[in-house]
Amino acid sequence: MCPKPVKTKARGFDPSEFGCNVFGLKTMRNYLPEHAYNSLTSTIVRGEPIDPVIADEVAEAMRTWAVERGVTHFTHWFLPLTGTTAGKHEAFLSPDGQGGAISQFSGRELIQGEPDASNFPNGGLRATFEARGYTAWDPTSPAFIMETAEVAILYVPTIFCGHNSEALDKKTPLLRSQRALETQLKRMARLFGIDDSGHAYATLGAEQEYFLVDLKMVGLRPDLKVTGRTLFGRTSPRQQQMEDHYFGHVKPRVLAFMDEVDQTLWRLGIPAKMRHNEAAPSQFEVAPVFEEQNLAVDHNMLTMLVLQEVAARHGFLCLLHEKPFAGINGSGKHNNWSPTGPDGRNWLRPGKTPHENAVFLAMLTAIVSGVDKFAHLLRATIATAGNDHRLGSHEAPPAIISVYLGEQLTDIFSQIMHGGARSSRSGGTIRPGIPTVPTLPRDTTDRNRTSPLAFTGNKFELRAVGSFQSCAGPNVAFNALVTWGIDELCTALEARIAEGVAFDAALQSVLSTFIREHKRILFDGDNYSEAWRQKAAKRGLPNAATTPEALEALIQPEVIELFARYDILSERELRARHGIYLDIYRKSVLIEAECALNMVRTLIVPAGLAYAENLRRAADTPPISRLRDRVDQLNDRLLIAAEQLETAIAACAPEEALTIMAEARRAADELEGLVPAAAWPLPSYAEMLLLV
Ligand code: ADP
Ligand code: MG
Repeated sequence: MCPKPVKTKARGFDPSEFGCNVFGLKTMRNYLPEHAYNSLTSTIVRGEPIDPVIADEVAEAMRTWAVERGVTHFTHWFLPLTGTTAGKHEAFLSPDGQGGAISQFSGRELIQGEPDASNFPNGGLRATFEARGYTAWDPTSPAFIMETAEVAILYVPTIFCGHNSEALDKKTPLLRSQRALETQLKRMARLFGIDDSGHAYATLGAEQEYFLVDLKMVGLRPDLKVTGRTLFGRTSPRQQQMEDHYFGHVKPRVLAFMDEVDQTLWRLGIPAKMRHNEAAPSQFEVAPVFEEQNLAVDHNMLTMLVLQEVAARHGFLCLLHEKPFAGINGSGKHNNWSPTGPDGRNWLRPGKTPHENAVFLAMLTAIVSGVDKFAHLLRATIATAGNDHRLGSHEAPPAIISVYLGEQLTDIFSQIMHGGARSSRSGGTIRPGIPTVPTLPRDTTDRNRTSPLAFTGNKFELRAVGSFQSCAGPNVAFNALVTWGIDELCTALEARIAEGVAFDAALQSVLSTFIREHKRILFDGDNYSEAWRQKAAKRGLPNAATTPEALEALIQPEVIELFARYDILSERELRARHGIYLDIYRKSVLIEAECALNMVRTLIVPAGLAYAENLRRAADTPPISRLRDRVDQLNDRLLIAAEQLETAIAACAPEEALTIMAEARRAADELEGLVPAAAWPLPSYAEMLLLV
């Protein structure tokens, strides 16, 4: 007989609770009058402009729903250029003029807010005397309730812009780029004889990596507290060499944390689907089911907030930094992107018919062309101080952007280039009469984990995005470059057809031309190898090693032209962003430098000097005197580095500061291996990483 199942206190999850904190379509139907519901759905589903007349009704319905759930305040929630999220809380409560108060929320309050924007980076787009900024409701991302144990607040996702509609946030260009992409997807639909009346859009699934460290350790590490990464620390003898953490058994304490994260996300309507241990010790991942891109970007920002809040409740610090620990894997965000045509199909899914495959191959060619033309732009959108430590090191994607298509598609591309694909490598048959398109079996791509941008069956996976970044930037760039690719391809195709060339022949010749021109971006080999670095240089592919270098792309004429052509960002807005991101980079590095300087002078050197002093009192044997010399030398190196660091900070020179910090780290990490463990002032890598 089977033993009785063990009773756990597992709380389970009632699926009807999914999205219970979201004012989504289901809730709206219950709370809104029918005409308002219909009007709002048109806005949400078809992207039609919001009807101001219904705003009061929607606001009142939202308030009623929220108040029933204990909400007292609402906030216009936005994504400023700091890369984080922002909003101020406003109470529903107002004085009624007779000594009492009423709870109210007007359509105007829902639609528009006017936060003082002077404390957000604007890159000179506004002078402080006109510091007003505007937040405007984005009805395509539903309002939701963020709850803690005692407080619940209604969040209204908004865009954030200046007086003359200058974009001051990450959502505005995302929405603009989505509109541009939709226009070109519909144009392509018409050209391929597909009904273009439906909504066309991009989808995104963002896999999120993170580390967990016990808060007790964090309390002893100023670097983790201040910068989110370890500025010092000798690598532990056991790191990830055993490859036993990836997909390994999740320890109960972490599991309890993950479970609360999932439950919270589900209540917020975020479809968290996968969770697992990642490659490095104490590193984990959470991945959702993909959603419409704008919603997915918001949901990823929320996921990061939830991870951090829940971690604190479980006695952890959740590190979202790209490289919290040297010598082991860093954290990224895999951005899975795919286009949905107006026919509701994913156009990156090889189809069942030659016609569907023609759409697929055209889409693929447009994307490859766009990535080649704007690889430097894509690189710029993943350039941050944190990601600089990750890209190109320890099993992270390199800073050189290339595209991995897999063997079969690369072969088909090469056939198209040479006059038409007639066979598919894995034995797919050709449909007679349509030489351009073989039947493609689905999902045949093998995985190349070294590629920064891989085609994985029915989507492109951009793996170079940093774990702490908003996905908005890279997705704006991707939408823009795909829009450009489709635009160019359609223009060429239309021109051939106008010359009287039959569609299939025209498509064949256009694809062939585009592939020939842009094939240098394709690479199926090992992206980590030195050979690739050299090959890429020969092919003329950009390789910006640092953030300031990479950000230059944002102000190149062709990028300015790209964003202007599709009304995504004006030259002024783009230049402002360039300045802001450069400034954020400098500040981040200089904060690290100050933190490193303090740690060297107030923690590390005192430990080193104390040990040197002890050694001077020890017997004067040759090994002891050699040890003393080493410790003395390291102390000196650290003190010199501290002086240099001080100068670099005073001169606001981030590049120099980074070089000096690296030298200080080498000396400190060596010293850590000499000073008695009990006298070392910082928790070791082993203590931080192998504990949970
Ligand atoms: P992989 O094994 O390549 O990581 P998964 O199927 O595990 O692929 O999916 C990884 C992420 O990609 C998930 O967040 C998933 O929702 C997302 N994803 C899957 N299909 C698509 C798609 N068509 N568009 C965007 N994201 C997708
Ligand atoms: Mg993946």
